[in-house]
Amino acid sequence: MISAIRPAASSVTVRVPAKVNLQLAVGPARADGYHSLVTVFHAVSLFDEVTVRPADQTALTVTGEDAAAVPADASNLAWRAADALARFTGRDDAGVEIQISKRIPVAAGLAGGSADAAAALVACNELWQAGLSQRELAGIGAELGSDVPFALMGGTAVGRGRGEQLTPALAAGTYHWALAFGLTGLSTASVYATCDRLRAARAAAGDAPPAPEPQLSHPLMTALRSGDPAAVGPLLSNDLQPAALSLQPELRRTLAAGREYDALGAIVSGSGPTCAFLARDARHARELAVAITGAGVCRAVARASGPVPGAAVVRDGQ
Ligand code: ATP
Repeated sequence: MISAIRPAASSVTVRVPAKVNLQLAVGPARADGYHSLVTVFHAVSLFDEVTVRPADQTALTVTGEDAAAVPADASNLAWRAADALARFTGRDDAGVEIQISKRIPVAAGLAGGSADAAAALVACNELWQAGLSQRELAGIGAELGSDVPFALMGGTAVGRGRGEQLTPALAAGTYHWALAFGLTGLSTASVYATCDRLRAARAAAGDAPPAPEPQLSHPLMTALRSGDPAAVGPLLSNDLQPAALSLQPELRRTLAAGREYDALGAIVSGSGPTCAFLARDARHARELAVAITGAGVCRAVARASGPVPGAAVVRDGQ
């Protein structure tokens, strides 16, 4: 049998999507400090690109959206991902030059850092011809961040545990979104801490029982199978939204602006501050984007559609 041996690439570029959470159910804090989650991830067409090349020593540059807010050292999640893959595959001395071209806003609840980690795993796996499966990459990625396995998988998926235990969801159709980016970022840790504080205050006041174990929304799953955005819109939910709104009260105006222009659903994405508005179709998403931009309640508005595939090689230079 003749087997084709592919020459090693001199550079590999991977494109990776942002995510929004169609449902984010947050349970009580666990002993390890994490919260148990049930979430429905949805990958949307807002992409970062990560390019890797062989180098004597690892180095990293960032260009594009919010580049100055992204660390360009060994704390960058893409750098940590390359290091983790090198260790896993016994290439402890493998350097790599990493270039990140960012379009996903930073600290926005869109999992941009996790996306770059996923892209770096796929890119280095290809550059080094390491031959790891997506499942193996997801195992390495889950150690770096709970959202990394989903950035590898893409599509629409249910996440449990910390969000890293994934099951693909049966979702029909394409969903069109307007995404309103906040004026400043929100730290995921402080949003969870605020969520715990708000819940404790309500429980102490006798207004609410302690947070129950999170449950998947079956009405949402049924609506996703129908492919009808009008059925999906009212079922979008996010347990972190009250905390994000308490930290950035101006987000109420952003959500109200989208509802005023007939968004089928209006929700804070993940830990925020990005607000995601579900549109009837591509044209309505354009109209929503124009109207929300005109309302002057956010930094910028982008259009995106989903679901889209996870991290994938787009260029492979020989
Ligand atoms: P999530 O929704 O996963 O909680 P997020 O989308 O709110 O995260 P990120 O854009 O992932 O937030 O950034 C969170 C922090 O991670 C940033 O403030 C930044 O300091 C750090 N970080 C490390 N690597 C990256 C990267 N490649 N891109 C963006 N931020 C990064």
